[in-house]
Amino acid sequence: MPELPEVETICRGLELHLAGRRILKVKVRERRLRCLVDRRLAEYLEGKTILGVERRAKYILIPVSGDMVWMYHLGMSGKLIHVDPQTPRQKHDHILVSLDSGRELRYHDPRRFGLSLLVAANRLHDLPQLKRLGPDPFDACFTGSYLHSFTKHSDRRIRDLLLDQQIVAGIGNIYANEILSCVGIRPTTRSRRLRRSQVEEIAAMIPTVLREAIRWCGTSFSDYRDVDDKFGEFQNHLRVYDRDGEKCRFCPSPIKRVAIGNRSAFYCPTCQK
Ligand SMILES: [Zn+2]
Repeated sequence: MPELPEVETICRGLELHLAGRRILKVKVRERRLRCLVDRRLAEYLEGKTILGVERRAKYILIPVSGDMVWMYHLGMSGKLIHVDPQTPRQKHDHILVSLDSGRELRYHDPRRFGLSLLVAANRLHDLPQLKRLGPDPFDACFTGSYLHSFTKHSDRRIRDLLLDQQIVAGIGNIYANEILSCVGIRPTTRSRRLRRSQVEEIAAMIPTVLREAIRWCGTSFSDYRDVDDKFGEFQNHLRVYDRDGEKCRFCPSPIKRVAIGNRSAFYCPTCQK
């Protein structure tokens, strides 16, 4: 599932290809995504100009002329690919958008958990999907003391707390495990047992790890590709995630995997206390 660095990589690629382009034609081949795609999507979008591409948590926001925002969430397996229109169409290409650049934007999603919604720009922040989100890890208001206000009374494991999108938006299981590895804290630690200094370290490490992952264009395990259909490379730099049984990069111990809830946590039993 794409997390913040993958979505940011896609947004940067989209911005390059889409900003200033006019939408000529929209064809919806499959409306049944997580929510039904609006029947009038083509009617609203054709002839409009794309003003830019922004990210909010794991949502892709594409403001278009006429004060509308076209919003995407990639769900489990969604891809937005910018291609030559001659490229053969694939089975799960659900939305096709012809641009005045002569190129085509395709939304591909075999599992159909993604979302494509058109909203009035002034209603965007009232959308239930966006309203409940906590700050972005790159926002100035995301600080050590902010995070500490949640950890100090919480019995939840720190890995689970970092996955809570209402506390901080955009972190999924890969990066939660990686961030905790970087600060030497076990993912299974109860949040309230962390010292304030440790929480501050975690808060500072979050944007550092995410920035590094963006530099490598994200992590590709199965479905994720960028807009040019290329793999990310951060999977080659992971410290703990999905490396159970392999040797720690910093000591001779093998990485351990434990099940917490329905998602595994990964850590080095020597480097993480
Ligand atoms: Zn180690």
